[in-house]
Amino acid sequence: MSTFPARAVVDLDAIAGNVAHLATLAPRSEVMAVVKADAYGHGLVPSALAAQAGGATWLGVAQLAEALTLRAQGVTGRILTWIYAPGAPLEGALAAGLDLSVGARWALEEVVAAARASDRTARVHLKVDTGLARGGMFLTEWTQVLAEAMVAQAEGLIEVVGVWSHLASAEDVTSPVTQAQLEVFTEAVARAEAAGARLEVRHLANSAATLVNPAMHFDLVRPGLAVFGLSPVPGRTPTDLGLTPAMRLEAEIMLVKDAPAGQGVSYGHTYTTTRDTVLADIPLGYADGIPRHASGVGPFQVGGRRLTIAGRVCMDQVVLDLGRGARERAGDVAVLFGPGGDGEPTAQDWADAVGTISYEIVTRLGSRVPRVYV
Ligand code: PLP
Repeated sequence: MSTFPARAVVDLDAIAGNVAHLATLAPRSEVMAVVKADAYGHGLVPSALAAQAGGATWLGVAQLAEALTLRAQGVTGRILTWIYAPGAPLEGALAAGLDLSVGARWALEEVVAAARASDRTARVHLKVDTGLARGGMFLTEWTQVLAEAMVAQAEGLIEVVGVWSHLASAEDVTSPVTQAQLEVFTEAVARAEAAGARLEVRHLANSAATLVNPAMHFDLVRPGLAVFGLSPVPGRTPTDLGLTPAMRLEAEIMLVKDAPAGQGVSYGHTYTTTRDTVLADIPLGYADGIPRHASGVGPFQVGGRRLTIAGRVCMDQVVLDLGRGARERAGDVAVLFGPGGDGEPTAQDWADAVGTISYEIVTRLGSRVPRVYV
């Protein structure tokens, strides 16, 4: 039993099941489970293994360090990483058998140099910027970079195995931006193949595109949020989309006490009790990723009823007003969010309450909150 009186309970079967479901939606594509940011807060290695058990043949991570951690923990299979800076230890990445994204000319030069120095062939996914204006190269640079990549490929230093890009508004199927990105992507792939790339995987689809836009699936889909059972599509619940949220965040009530009417609660007394009541202390705060914007609005389930945080979120605690005559005791469990099937709030409810997206709710969960796997 952990000494920390709260936990994120992660349902690994839900992760595996979500991947299996996503695979059925993209039957001609492989699935790369995106497990960056500590698997969206769910825990990198257990989540990666669960995703593989569900049929993911690839794993994707942003940071090179995350990919190296996966390998160091014995995770096998194809892993793509796409964030590293000049001077990164790319020889180590090649020794670890990682696939590397190349989204800039300097990156191509450094990957080629690492391959030469380590006498290995680097598997490269060239990233085209189709309109997100973030990572990747615009088409204006593409032809030149392709030419340089083909020289390195001819020398056996790299193998361009992928062309890929990322969507700006994937959840909006009718968006002209999405259509324009598809057209640029198709052009980038055609130019790569004409230049001599023997592409194994062309990939563009995140969760939203995997779920609602089959035209984006290509050879491989790259869902993240949906792997963890959350919906990236506004107005569609996980249930609507055939997904099961994998995380339940709960905490033990630490302290229950009677308080009089008119009692100001927590820093700044932004909440005042309106009647004699019972207050409860919950041992999670903004240091654990509970947004301070949840002050007064963050939802909880206690004893089968829904409550919101009374007053400000503190660093390590929040207070709930349980109401007159409440029967809860220290040690009883308060639920912040879960799949929602038992009337508890969901991560989406938290996101709505604080004006953010469910991605941020789960990825910001603090490292001191134990992850418990079931
Ligand atoms: N691909 C890339 C390049 C990403 O940065 C992300 C996450 O933002 C994903 C795929 C997965 O996105 P989502 O969680 O929306 O499925």
